[in-house]
Order: sequence, then structure tokens, then C-alpha cells
Amino acid sequence: MTSSGNFTFTSVNKACFANRDPRDHLSCMAKTLPPAGKLWLVGAGPGDPDLLTLRAARLLESADLVVHDGLVGEGVLALIPPNVERISVAKQRSRHTMKQELINELIVRETLAGKQVVRLKGGDPFIFGRGGEELDAAREAGAAVEVVPGITAAAGCAAQAGLPLTHREDASAVSFVAGQCKDLTDQDWSGLAGHGRTLVIYMGLATANAIADKLIADGVSPDLPVAIVERGTTADARVLRTLLTDLGDLVAREKVASPALIIVGKVAARADALDCLGTPGVAENIENIRDFT
Ligand code: SAH
Repeated sequence: MTSSGNFTFTSVNKACFANRDPRDHLSCMAKTLPPAGKLWLVGAGPGDPDLLTLRAARLLESADLVVHDGLVGEGVLALIPPNVERISVAKQRSRHTMKQELINELIVRETLAGKQVVRLKGGDPFIFGRGGEELDAAREAGAAVEVVPGITAAAGCAAQAGLPLTHREDASAVSFVAGQCKDLTDQDWSGLAGHGRTLVIYMGLATANAIADKLIADGVSPDLPVAIVERGTTADARVLRTLLTDLGDLVAREKVASPALIIVGKVAARADALDCLGTPGVAENIENIRDFT
């Protein structure tokens, strides 16, 4: 390396500057600039690839590397061109295939190395998706980063089920909560469900019984309608409906599998759903749900 005034040229650049044609000189400069990597935190939507944003679809085409989690459906993954490197960091409730810190390290390292990195996450990156942590990690490391929103499961699953999360007659407020058992007892959900409100519970299958007990203990009516959307927006989606008191039993009876969303509130009575009032005495007939006030 040699220095000239304030500038330091590498030997590659010296060779470039020896060239007399100024256009060659400029192209040599461009070639020796550090590669400009960028990290894109992209929401993949709830499953149906048609629900990707146009921006997400374009980024999948142009990425160098796609790092995706387990919620991203096969239909979306099929849109990644074969020449684009792909890494799965699929996570399960009790088993992490890759710890969040390692995911942060991976995406930051690859971005700083100059790649266009798409971090593809189910739904929206900022709704129970740890997108905020990845954004912080990228910013702290000085990596260029941008967030591309996606349709979150609540919006996608409810729309598919014909279930309006708000409705002038039934609900003027809607809340999203996480139902993981770890901190269920510490969470204060009082006031989130009941008259005029809709409560959407993500990751609530394993604790469905405890969730119903918690809500009923908080004063929510055991006869409030509840809908469960399993694998929402995909070809094998199921929408089931019952009353709050029957929630845990319904999950067990129907062997509801993840991913599934629990929607509690009068609006659930409007869903295009299979009524599953299996427990004798829970309700005389389905009219009880529709007439709930
Ligand atoms: N970032 C995601 C949520 C991640 S948490 C989003 O915005 O949607 C994972 C939980 O989302 C699952 O346990 C489930 O409760 C819910 N979920 C995601 N996709 C779903 C789908 N297609 N159908 C039903 N629930 C879904």
C-alpha cells in the first residue's frame, strides 16, 4: 500500500490508476469498493404464497441468501430461485435448532460480508417474530437493514375464516397476545376479552385449557364464542368453533395441530366455521353462540 495525501491506495488500485482511460479508472474504483450488503427482515405472511407482498417476492428473486424459519410454508419457499443460498433456522416450542443470538450473528455476519440477506419470517416480522431483536442486532453492528411487513396470522386467518376481528356491532378493540406457558401466569390479560372486544391468542394450543381458566377467572363469560384457525390460509386449513369453557377440550378432541390461532370474542360467532360443541351441556345448540350478548 502507498499513501498519497489523504488517500491510501491498494496495489490493485495503483494498477487501475496507471490506466490512462478515465472510464476504466472509474470502473476499477467501483470493483474495489467494499461490497454493499443489506439485510431485509421480510414477512412471509401466514402461509398462502399469494399473500406475499410484491416487495417480498421481488427480494426473494434478487437475494444472495435467504434465512428462513419453520413457519414459512413450502409454497413460499418454492419461490426462492435454486441459485439462491437457503438456510433454515426452524424453531420449535421446546427445542431451538438455532438460538436467537446465533441467528443474529449469522445474518449480521453475512450482511457485513456484502450479501443481500433476506431474513424470511412467518406472518409479520414484528408480531411475535423477534424481528425487533434482529433489527437491533443489525443496527448495533452497523449493517444496512430494512423491514418489509407481512400479513400477520391474526389478519390472514381471520379474513380467510370470514371472521371480522372488529365489527361495529360486536367489537371495537382487538388485542394480540402470546399464549406460551412460560409466562402465562405472569401476563395480565384482564380487560382484553369480553364485551365489545376480540382477543387473538398466538402460540396458545399447548396451554388452551389454562388460557380458558385464566380468562374465566378474570370474569370473562364461559359462554363467549371461540374460534380456532389451524394452518390458516393454506389448502388444509380448518376453522373450528366452540365456547370458551370448551376450548381446551376442543383442542384435545379435534387434535388441533400447530400452527393455530385462538380467537375469543363475539365476532367468532360470525366465522365460517365447523361448530364443535362436543361436551354435553356446554350449549344446547349453536343458536346459543349466535345469540351471545
Ligand atoms: N410472526 C408471526 C407469528 C409468529 S408466532 C405472524 O405475524 O403471524 C407463531 C404463531 O403464529 C403460531 O403458533 C400460531 O399461533 C400463529 N400462526 C402463524 N401462522 C399461522 C397459520 N397459518 N395458521 C394459524 N396460526 C398461525
